[in-house]
Amino acid sequence: MDNPLAPERQRTLGLRRLGLRAGRWLGMGRMWTRGLVDLALPPICMACRAAVGEPGCLCAPCWSRVRFIERPYCDRLGIPLTHEYETFGTTGPVVSEAAFARPPAYGRARAVAVFGDVSRDIIHALKYADRLDVAAPMARMMARAGADILAEAGALVPVPLHPLRLWKRRFNQSMLLARGVAAASGVPVRADWLRRARATTPQVGLDRAARAQNVAGAFIVPETMRAELRGRRLVLVDDVLTTGATIDACAKALMRAGALRVDVLVFARVVDGHDTPIS
Ligand SMILES: [Zn+2]
Repeated sequence: MDNPLAPERQRTLGLRRLGLRAGRWLGMGRMWTRGLVDLALPPICMACRAAVGEPGCLCAPCWSRVRFIERPYCDRLGIPLTHEYETFGTTGPVVSEAAFARPPAYGRARAVAVFGDVSRDIIHALKYADRLDVAAPMARMMARAGADILAEAGALVPVPLHPLRLWKRRFNQSMLLARGVAAASGVPVRADWLRRARATTPQVGLDRAARAQNVAGAFIVPETMRAELRGRRLVLVDDVLTTGATIDACAKALMRAGALRVDVLVFARVVDGHDTPIS
């Protein structure tokens, strides 16, 4: 029953594995080299790479084009409120009609900015251009925008990437942001509390119903983590919040596993009538 091809095939597989491993190390090396180069070069704008005075900031034209989310905003969705909601002297949280019409699975969401061209460029710099230098300043802005939900939080849970996508991109941007938010807020990161159960097709070009369908049941809390997670107040961390289908699927999985509350912290969120992410 000896197969004469077996040793040759084994050698090929071995070489292929070695190649994959070498590729991964090269990738990591590239990230480190990039980090060192970024340190040595003059600071550049987080969005457009124009020269700026200090690292981790935006140039004046980019800054002026960001729509930062400030109070008053909807306490549930974190979207800026129009003047119709002005509360004439009453203080306290205000909830938008949109949140009543379509309540999210999460408790409260907070975002630094409305998703637009500059916030998109910053997110793309992090995800696709190896600009890992933007993660820390993004996270610092997120920690400020989410100060109220972080004050009550027991742990940060980054939205997980599927292992295949993680392998291709070499890092999970949500994990990098969560680490930065942890450094700024003191709330620990628990990435092992949520996993992707299966790969999902990219949400690009799908409508709201199709997006929800695409991610339904895609996230799980490992059985071994449930006792630790039970009764905790958690904050899900991601780069961008679009229709909320992915975040809702994550929040549902964590709530089903016994979390007391799940809030959400992102860098940018889509607000109806504004730009939508292309990825
Ligand atoms: Zn700029």
